[in-house]
Amino acid sequence: MKSLIYLGPGKCVWQDKEKPSIQAPTDVVVKISRTTICGTDLHILKGDVPSVEPGRILGHEGVGSIVEKGEAVGNFAVGDRVLISCITSCGRCPHCRRQMFSHCERGGWILGNRIDGTQAEYVRIPCADTSLYHAPNGVDEDALTMLSDMLPTGFECGVLSGGVNPGDTLAIVGAGPVGLAALISARLYSPSMIVTVDMDEHRLTTSKELGAKHAINSRSENAADAVLRLTGGVGVDVAIEAVGVPDTFDTCQQIVAPGGRIANIGVHGKPVTLRLEKLWDRNVTITTRLVDTVSIPMLLKAMMSGAIDPTRAISHRLHLSEMLKAYETFGHAAREGALKVVLSNG
Ligand code: ZN
Ligand code: ZN
Repeated sequence: MKSLIYLGPGKCVWQDKEKPSIQAPTDVVVKISRTTICGTDLHILKGDVPSVEPGRILGHEGVGSIVEKGEAVGNFAVGDRVLISCITSCGRCPHCRRQMFSHCERGGWILGNRIDGTQAEYVRIPCADTSLYHAPNGVDEDALTMLSDMLPTGFECGVLSGGVNPGDTLAIVGAGPVGLAALISARLYSPSMIVTVDMDEHRLTTSKELGAKHAINSRSENAADAVLRLTGGVGVDVAIEAVGVPDTFDTCQQIVAPGGRIANIGVHGKPVTLRLEKLWDRNVTITTRLVDTVSIPMLLKAMMSGAIDPTRAISHRLHLSEMLKAYETFGHAAREGALKVVLSNG
């Protein structure tokens, strides 16, 4: 089967690898019909994620149908169409019992990291009963693919951790796919104002179409000053960090209102300066989280009812065999006007 194989920093190829097979009775093999590329995949390609070894098939998002199943799998049958969670969970370990699937002792983020992932014609999914979801009849598979990672990440790490309440003012620093997912899902809670910050005009325009009241280009103005101006000098109730660099985290520290929350989503590779000398008396909460995907069932219902539409974050649709072109497009997001790139097969 064809697959996207990581060969070390800066190198990947689209080539043949042996089709996966059942290794444990709790496994299934899924034939991929949709997959996509995550910002984390670009981090891996840069060599930022040492747990990914050369030879690994990348990708942790996807939709497909079950072609083979282990004898202990009870919830799914061959032929079932499924959504793959980016987080694998056994459902039994202490972390899973606390709904913290991201730190599952037998799973967590392993797809496209410690085991072969979804950017391929087939993928093996361990702990299938607790790591897959049935695709509802008639669901838009492109939209469904956004529920593997992007939407639950923006919602859980941004909106839930940030404790967005009705009437809150909200700043989303970083209007890439995950920032937009936070925006889309935050609107379920009726914040009074959403401000987005980015350097990419296309992303800012999209954020306004999705309901941001103000969009600040941090290339042309000081983002913290602009947010403070918009809030009468008070700052925002919730600042969501959706980039993962010291500058954007610092912006969040400067714009959080007394009693506010900073919800970090970004994958940070470098230390940041914690401005405790400014924050110590401001009753501020800072949260970090890796997505657990516990919100997938709720988000799926919200999507099926039309309350949220994650397809607005999809910019490009390509065939699975155009994987390298998809990486080229997603890797030059500003030039290509790229958000999520969906790859389909059949
Ligand atoms: Zn991801
Ligand atoms: Zn577990």
